[in-house]
Amino acid sequence: SRARNVLSSLDFSEKQSDTIPGVYDGEWRGSGEIFESVCPSTREVIGRIRSGTPDELQATLSKTREAYRKFRLLPPPRRGEIVRQIRNALSSKVCGVFPREELGALVALEMGKIRTEGVGEVQEFIDICDYAVGLSRMMNGRLVASERPGHSILEVPNPLGVVGVLSAFNFPVAVYGWNLAISMVAGNATLWKPSPSTPLCSIAITKIVSNVLENNGLPGAIAGLFVGGKDAGEAIVESEEVDLVSFTGSEAVGRQVGKVVQGRFGKIILELGGNNASIVLADADLNLALPAVFFGAVGTAGQRCTTTRRLFIQRAIASTFIEKLQAAYKSITPGDPLIDGTLLGPLHTERAISVYLSAIDHLRFSDAEILIGGRIYEASHLEDYLSKGYFVQPTIAIPRSTDPKQMMWSKENFAPILNVAVFDEVEEAIEWNNAVPQGLSSTIWTRDIRNIGKWIGPEGSDCGIVNVRDEKKNYRLTLMGFKQVNVGTSGAEIGAAFGGNKSTGWGRESGGDAWKQYVRWSACTINYSDAAPLAQGVNFNL
Ligand code: NAD
Repeated sequence: SRARNVLSSLDFSEKQSDTIPGVYDGEWRGSGEIFESVCPSTREVIGRIRSGTPDELQATLSKTREAYRKFRLLPPPRRGEIVRQIRNALSSKVCGVFPREELGALVALEMGKIRTEGVGEVQEFIDICDYAVGLSRMMNGRLVASERPGHSILEVPNPLGVVGVLSAFNFPVAVYGWNLAISMVAGNATLWKPSPSTPLCSIAITKIVSNVLENNGLPGAIAGLFVGGKDAGEAIVESEEVDLVSFTGSEAVGRQVGKVVQGRFGKIILELGGNNASIVLADADLNLALPAVFFGAVGTAGQRCTTTRRLFIQRAIASTFIEKLQAAYKSITPGDPLIDGTLLGPLHTERAISVYLSAIDHLRFSDAEILIGGRIYEASHLEDYLSKGYFVQPTIAIPRSTDPKQMMWSKENFAPILNVAVFDEVEEAIEWNNAVPQGLSSTIWTRDIRNIGKWIGPEGSDCGIVNVRDEKKNYRLTLMGFKQVNVGTSGAEIGAAFGGNKSTGWGRESGGDAWKQYVRWSACTINYSDAAPLAQGVNFNL
């Protein structure tokens, strides 16, 4: 009944019929495969969605290109006005309903994260719209000094074309928001292929966006949707109609996607897996570090790309810190993500349960000490209606080996498993931090300015996101990536470019200079003199 309430408040008028169309390019349709949306808390099927056929996908791609040809002519501030209306549609109360709250609940229902995080995702979409509206008046090129008399060189950004957004299940709203808002003010048309396991979130969002486009007399295919799986993803990635592929997902799929797009010389943004570490030094303020590590490791049931998966603690405080962390883990109970106060929801799918169990088996097999967790919650720990949900115990383990090349350290397991190691010198911990293939988020907890300098400098973290906190100020330094100091690994703001290095894919989205990837740059040399001199003084006169 909760599912019905959430869906009806979002005006899923097709909910009574057998299936909901999952393709939008100006009109809603789809006569292909049926995808089921399953609530991970109960395993209840909450929607059946009709995808499109391969022919329908090609037709949608053509309509997206057509829409781009029209939309690119709109001046950037007028595109910004459309984004402003999308922002308002997401945040204003309409007929007694707050879309932000209802969409947030739908995220909780369909993805399984707790409601406050679901609402946070929609807020992130709203925030990036604000950012993009401002950007629509600031997407400046520049005038470059020319060495030739009577010449000017302009570096000019123009719309790029069609942007294919392929997104992951764990952020079913925000990641699309980052892409849509920026791509739209840049003058592109966007085709979204969401995760096939979160189709209702994508349909609900597309309904809101398409209303705005249609009310402004613009083609709906400026922000199209194609619910589909691997085949649809592959077809979009291979299509010459798609100028930029923005892919968020696993390293394994990203590796294939990257090769295909590179093979046809398309543009690509890759946002792949993270294997994020927190380093806690003996001088850290443990009152800050402890809740942040706890949230980083357990929040979203370990299903954030920025989840803390590795914890390195300096020897002097190791036993105290681990003890306190264990106490925090003991206090958490699983529950319905839609109910206020729940901190731990389910994993998203049955497959995720297998990933969790095989990671635990591997730890046990390699003689790791499992301090807490390591099992699926038994039905007796859950409300009756949640007894079939995908709930697992958040786990802390101390692997026997600290060799970062070992699988338990080097692989991203998308589940709440925190591996812990004790270190003596900060250099050792930084080396461990950097020794894995991924490079998304990392954080150091210290009050020593020398450690902070080391962390953010050339010998420091090699991640995109590097967080630090000094004694008086809690600040985050975003050096085109995530290195944190006294800030947890999770929880990004839209103002900074988001993304990671190495096998996380080097992509950057959202704020910062990320918009520069969504445009086609040209250097335009204009000769307004009566002569035609060549650069570098080259003489080629007859
Ligand atoms: P996934 O790789 O299984 O799927 C991602 C998307 O790719 C889905 O839309 C899927 O349908 C599509 N897809 C699958 N096979 C494809 C193929 N061969 N060609 C084209 N598309 C294909 O990822 P997931 O399980 O949905 O998401 C979890 C992963 O995403 C984790 O690794 C997580 O770290 C990562 N992630 C990264 C970020 C980031 O910003 N770095 C953000 C969120 C999630």
